[in-house]
Amino acid sequence: MVFEKKEMEKWLQHDPLMEKVIDLQPVVWLNPKKKNVNETALPLAKKDMEEAEALWIRFAPYLAKEFPATQETAGIVESPFRPIPQMKKAVSEFYGVAIPGELYLKCDNELAIAGSVKARGGVYEVLYHAEQLALKAGLISQEDNYERFADDEFKTFFSQYSIGVGSTGNLGLSIGIVSAKLGFDVSVYMSSDAKPWKKQLLREKGATVHECEGDFGEAITKGRKETLQTPNAYFVDDEKSRNLFLGYSVAAFRLQKQLEEQNVAVDAEHPLFVYLPCGVGGAPGGIAFGLKQVFGDHVHCFFVEPTHSPSVLLGLMTGLKEKVCVQDFGIDNCTEGDGLAVGRPSSFASSFSEQLISGIYTLEDDELFKLLALLADSENIYVEPSATAGLCGPGRVLNTEYYTMNGLNAEKANHIVWATGGALVPEEDMKSFYEKGKALLK
Ligand SMILES: *Cc1c(COP(=O)(O)O)cnc(C)c1O
Repeated sequence: MVFEKKEMEKWLQHDPLMEKVIDLQPVVWLNPKKKNVNETALPLAKKDMEEAEALWIRFAPYLAKEFPATQETAGIVESPFRPIPQMKKAVSEFYGVAIPGELYLKCDNELAIAGSVKARGGVYEVLYHAEQLALKAGLISQEDNYERFADDEFKTFFSQYSIGVGSTGNLGLSIGIVSAKLGFDVSVYMSSDAKPWKKQLLREKGATVHECEGDFGEAITKGRKETLQTPNAYFVDDEKSRNLFLGYSVAAFRLQKQLEEQNVAVDAEHPLFVYLPCGVGGAPGGIAFGLKQVFGDHVHCFFVEPTHSPSVLLGLMTGLKEKVCVQDFGIDNCTEGDGLAVGRPSSFASSFSEQLISGIYTLEDDELFKLLALLADSENIYVEPSATAGLCGPGRVLNTEYYTMNGLNAEKANHIVWATGGALVPEEDMKSFYEKGKALLK
């Protein structure tokens, strides 16, 4: 599986960072192919995001009815946006790097329905599919009140259809929970690293869980194959899905409103930095795409990957995108960052990220746990380990030539760390994450 010596030598010469990446050392990579937004050629535009937002609004009455946690926001699935000044102090002290500007947390760890960023993409894709089926069958028109999707008539209708998905955990939770609620026959193909509590929760919600022996790549391949052999079945394909991507992108409109409400400026003088944990690259890619449509070149998006799963990093560094996986480079794809244990990047998302993102940095698993404990102690916010990956971003990027290269004023920058999951983690598990972090901090 691993590249032959000659091929490996070619890549080592291709980029001076490659040696460190293969050696599992943390790196910061700045994207040499990044374009100005108005020079990009992309298969989606702001209009597509607006249509996606309109679908969320049509389904809001349904979501408010079926998922009581969304009642407070009238069926709109959105997370809080918070300044975290105590954490800013804590990370500055911990790393010994002063962080100019303000530090904020986008709390997708609190998102209703799935407790992670997957509540954006996953729920959107299932709702989109359900709407298509219902429209085609003449059960509903777009002007109707979508509360009707909760009726028995709809549940009986959807029970003739199946949905399949491959996942390391969180995508499975989001697809499984919303599909089962609508009445679909849903199968989730979980990779071997998926947490037992995630599988159990899915079974309780009415999904069928298939436990696969391999990693995410194997789970998705098996899921795709079996789903496509089932009549009336639809596969949510995390390696190439346009609708997952669009579901994530809508976050940008919501964030824009929250920034306005909290008087956070985004312009040439006030650059906005966003740090996004990355698996296949769909969630961070969709969000980055959305942010670029809304804020243009004033927003700077960085992805974060574990040193053991740098799939999007290798895809973009080599330019080969989904045609390479970390195993080609002898990297094992073993990480405790749920949602990040992905060996091969999404083809759809990578073609966007290649043009839009500022860079990618990698970090070690131990760092995730340390940051988790620091965040808990400083702000009393508990997230899952993968969701902490962005917290060391401001310091890591400040250490590069990125600001000088782009003529940016660090003093007036705002930093948003995307906290991607955590709400559904059982208390016992969270306690052991925290204790592990505390022990590592000693
Ligand atoms: C899925 C996930 C990500 C990354 O999303 P991708 O689309 O796989 O890049 C990050 N953090 C968490 C907690 C996730 O579940």
